[in-house]
Amino acid sequence: MRSFADTETHFAIVPSGSQPSADGVSITEPKFLRCDECGAQVRIDGPEGYTTTIDNLPHERNCPQRGVTSQYFEEQLVR
Ligand SMILES: [Zn+2]
Repeated sequence: MRSFADTETHFAIVPSGSQPSADGVSITEPKFLRCDECGAQVRIDGPEGYTTTIDNLPHERNCPQRGVTSQYFEEQLVR
C-alpha cells in the first residue's frame, strides 16, 4: 500500500502573487494548480479551492501526469 509520501505525482499550489485589488485573491492565497511535469496550470475556482479543476489541467500531450484525476489528488491532500 502506497503512502502519501510515496506518491509519484507532482502538483504545486501556486499563490496569487498579485494584490487583492487586482484579482480579489490575497497575495499568498492559492490561486493556481500547476503540474510540475509539464508546467500546465489552471486557476483554482470556488470557495473550496482544492476540490476543483485538476481534471481540467491543460497538460502537454506527452505529460506523464495527464491521467491523474481530481479524486486521486484529493486523496493526497486530505490525509
Ligand atoms: Zn502535466
